[in-house]
Amino acid sequence: MRIEILGSAAGGGFPQWNCNCRNCRSLRAGTLRAKSRSQTQVAVSDSGRPWFLLNASPDLRMQIERAPVLQPGDGVRDSPISGVLITSADIDQIAGLLSLRELQPFRIYCTQSLQRILRKDNSAFGMLNRVPRQVCWTNVVPGERFPLLDVEGRESGISCEVFSLADRYPLYVSPERVAELNGEEALLGMILTGSSGMRLAYLPAVPKISDELLCLLETTDLLLFDGTFWSDDELIRVQGSGATAREMGHVPVSGPDGSLQLLAGVRRPRKIFVHVNNTNPMLDESGPEYRQVRAAGWKVAEDGWQLNL
Ligand SMILES: [Zn+2]
Repeated sequence: MRIEILGSAAGGGFPQWNCNCRNCRSLRAGTLRAKSRSQTQVAVSDSGRPWFLLNASPDLRMQIERAPVLQPGDGVRDSPISGVLITSADIDQIAGLLSLRELQPFRIYCTQSLQRILRKDNSAFGMLNRVPRQVCWTNVVPGERFPLLDVEGRESGISCEVFSLADRYPLYVSPERVAELNGEEALLGMILTGSSGMRLAYLPAVPKISDELLCLLETTDLLLFDGTFWSDDELIRVQGSGATAREMGHVPVSGPDGSLQLLAGVRRPRKIFVHVNNTNPMLDESGPEYRQVRAAGWKVAEDGWQLNL
């Protein structure tokens, strides 16, 4: 399986347009040893075509233009992108779908709850189904395994299993709608298995780490994991107020109950942090936090990385 990391930052990107935190300010000034990053976006393919997007970031159009493998081949209208898998209704995971509305057929794999939010409550997404045979919506169910298909319905060599990570829907979803939805479908993690049998775990948002999750991750070969915040009170320290990392649905990287510590015993997969917020001190490659992450065997994803499984 080929994996392209097209974007590696959390919502807002790095630097974030309205942010003057130490990281963003120093990156703009050219005094920080760090890479700028677009919002997290990953693409996978078993054999080079077709490709599947894992979520659809607000930076998707630019990310496709930076990745030659995702650009049109032959024909006036063409794309090697056959499908998009969506893990939650967060704007950072769905906004890019609106950049794919140019009448190109592809599949969207998501839960029934997510489909109701997008198609019943947010009419702009109707542009994905303006003509017959445009976007084909495919329901996914936590706990079930399904093959990723190309636009014609042929198997791509990749199969996917999704599992529930939380029951909280984004704030923009009305309480009336939330009351009708299945809580299990609010936030998914996914494991993708290629034709070689190698397994990729994709979890850009993890609100809590259970023993069951640790066992599951030990069955994978590559882990792309929530690296949003270094510490639980990171945003409060930067802004003077706000929510904790855990309140926002992200286990912090550091601390006795952080992901570095809790995943220390997970030995099989290569471990890479994605979805890194611009305030996270581990973005500074000359800092102690970055050294600590690298010493623990993790890497911090950068835009443009290409991985093979
Ligand atoms: Zn910032």
